[in-house]
Amino acid sequence: MYPSMWSNVSFEMEEFCKILPKIELHAHVNGSISAETMEKIIHNKDLVGVDMLKLNKWIHSVKKGEKKNLDETFEMFKIMHQLVTDTDTVSMVTYDVIKEFANDNVRYLELRSTPRDVPSTGMTKQSYVEAVLQAIEKCMQENVKIIVRFLLSVDRSRGVNVAMETVQLAKQFKESSKGIVIGVDLSGNPNVGDMNDFVPVLKEAKNAGLKLALHIAERTNHVEESALLLSIPPDRIGHGTFLHPEVGGRQDLVDMTQKYNIPIETCLTSNVLGRTVPSFDKHHFKYWYDKKHPCIVCTDDKGLMLTSSSAEYIIVSNTFHFTKQQLYDISFNSIDCIFENDKIKDELRSQWETSKNFLDLQK
Ligand code: 5GP
Repeated sequence: MYPSMWSNVSFEMEEFCKILPKIELHAHVNGSISAETMEKIIHNKDLVGVDMLKLNKWIHSVKKGEKKNLDETFEMFKIMHQLVTDTDTVSMVTYDVIKEFANDNVRYLELRSTPRDVPSTGMTKQSYVEAVLQAIEKCMQENVKIIVRFLLSVDRSRGVNVAMETVQLAKQFKESSKGIVIGVDLSGNPNVGDMNDFVPVLKEAKNAGLKLALHIAERTNHVEESALLLSIPPDRIGHGTFLHPEVGGRQDLVDMTQKYNIPIETCLTSNVLGRTVPSFDKHHFKYWYDKKHPCIVCTDDKGLMLTSSSAEYIIVSNTFHFTKQQLYDISFNSIDCIFENDKIKDELRSQWETSKNFLDLQK
């Protein structure tokens, strides 16, 4: 976390954002690995071929608040993938990520990750998913105060056949995971892949009862692609940075998003660091918030971006001068956007109601 970005926030507001119960709906497992967990991996592993110098440089420059473009970010994911190559490590990092979100008072978490196989360690896509589920199960057994669900990520840069394989895996785990695997995410380098090929695959997932969270309009000049993906329609939009006309999007994209009432997972630090948004005050969160459109405050890649769920709320508070009540409402209303049933939503709503006893919303 880099305090320079929110140094104007009062200590009281900072504490409020930390104790506020929160919902996290856009977190990629391997981008969420904290520096502490990375140290554990480095300690445990033979790291031949991993460019640690590059990784350390990244962490150093992010700490200084230096911005990165998306291509640089995608280079870092490659390094993270070189660190996480076996099922024990997948389980360990997932467990740590969940505990860190829980310690930050995230009460409901939807994690997403791209199943990968690494023949040299015997890890298959199937055992990758099992390893994530094991970590979730362990947290449940330990009564960690958080509900966790899992989305399998389709990496668009890996082609449509791999996408279909991932959807088949998601269908299989939807049946066998007792409700933990609930959906499919579309992510990966937005410059790669023709979405005309991917839409039938995504529709197959939807028809099988899986929820769809799709990265849409992450870059400029993707208007036609965005229209195509919105027409499915997805259940949530990741980023949605360039949907509206003021930033080079198109009115029909706004209209479709509103017509289908598709919530937007906004990731302020990630977008500013990734230079797709020039500054926090220009972030599209405010455009959609002012329209009363459902927006969730999310972290994206808390490890690589050195952020946290609380830090993102602090940034929202600092940038838009929101009151505690407004921040509470953003968090509370996010419950409507989770991929779960009414019973779980009601349970969460009552937790939020109870939290009002110690949140001191009026001050
Ligand atoms: P993993 O799926 O390995 O757990 O998490 C890292 C992966 O998530 C990356 O390789 C990339 O495919 C995806 N990812 C993480 N952050 C972003 C983002 O901001 N945009 C897109 N399009 N993909 C991302």
